[in-house]
Amino acid sequence: MKYRELGSTGLKVSEIGLGCEGMMEENCAMTAKLLNLAEANGVNYFDIYSPNPDLRTAIGEALSKNNLRGKFLLQSHLCSVWKNDEYMRTRNLSEVKSGFDEMLKLLKTDYIDVGMIHYCDALSDWDEILNNKILDYAKELKSQGKIRFIGLSSHNPQVALKAVKSKAIEVLMFSVNPCYDLMPPDEDVEQLWNEENYKENLLNMNPERQELYETCQRESVGITVMKCFGGGDLLDAELSPAGAALTINQCIAYALSRPAVTSIMAGSHSEAEFKACLDYESADESERDYALALASFPKISWKGHCMYCNHCEPCPVRIDIASTTKFLNLAQAQKELPETVREHYKVLEHHAGECVQCGACEKRCPFGVEVRENMKQAVKVFGY
Ligand code: SF4
Ligand code: SF4
Repeated sequence: MKYRELGSTGLKVSEIGLGCEGMMEENCAMTAKLLNLAEANGVNYFDIYSPNPDLRTAIGEALSKNNLRGKFLLQSHLCSVWKNDEYMRTRNLSEVKSGFDEMLKLLKTDYIDVGMIHYCDALSDWDEILNNKILDYAKELKSQGKIRFIGLSSHNPQVALKAVKSKAIEVLMFSVNPCYDLMPPDEDVEQLWNEENYKENLLNMNPERQELYETCQRESVGITVMKCFGGGDLLDAELSPAGAALTINQCIAYALSRPAVTSIMAGSHSEAEFKACLDYESADESERDYALALASFPKISWKGHCMYCNHCEPCPVRIDIASTTKFLNLAQAQKELPETVREHYKVLEHHAGECVQCGACEKRCPFGVEVRENMKQAVKVFGY
């Protein structure tokens, strides 16, 4: 298992994490099975968005029975509560407080690693989080050591960007996959999988989503990924909004190559499903390569846009073209060169200044990226 730094938290997180969607299978017996499998494979991070008391009880028992609490970093959600026997999202502070107390009790723990403010897709909702003092409450929990870091979950890049720029959150849970990345921001999450929106020809990643990923990287806000497979639709040629299927490895590789992304939450419904995601760790580059699959989508074009896919390798002077381009894009989005980006660029083994302009990369790039020009630009921006 590979581990990545979760933004500026200092937490080292497995790049494959576990979602809780399937843990309720078999009357919650699946919870212990999935957690044991996770632990055996070096997965140390999982998300609990559901307030279902049966699920939380099963997780608490599995963690305490097998002495697993210290082996996992928990990302669990504030504002997701259980009321009248069903899930409810609330911005009522007293409900949020009692929901959090119940969460700790059922999970049999006295702290949560990342306290995620749940599901904020509207700018007015972000205002409500501030006005109703929910963010203040999260900060209070942090000062008491009951949560270690504050997060927010969202599907809307405008809201997420506002939260990240406010510097109020340290972790973002966001929906990342190559189809949703084409869609303009919307307060209605259903629009992400509304097939009507994919009927016209689509060109390139939505700039606000791009800006969100780049801002998170610059501000050191780690992203944990939900809906990496679009709820499974992207794996099925009939259901995929792109009109063609991707594989599990391709979806994971795509999400993990976006700037700031740390870990994907695999919402598995069985051990076999989870194992298929864990197999990513031993998959070779050809199995992870999503470039040709994306380039072949019938109605979607990423022309001229670097997808950080590495399909242009090898470079004769061993420049890491995807990373160099990523840092160039991060730098060009700012008036001044951010120090973090300059440092990341500096530690690359080879730099754009070594480019001999052979053009071999451009012949291999399925997206028509002008790599030679990008290398020249990188030299201008970074100086070498
Ligand atoms: S230049 Fe092309 S092939 Fe290389 S990483 Fe970017 S998109 Fe992929
Ligand atoms: S053009 Fe530059 S970056 Fe591309 S393969 Fe040749 S040396 Fe490497």
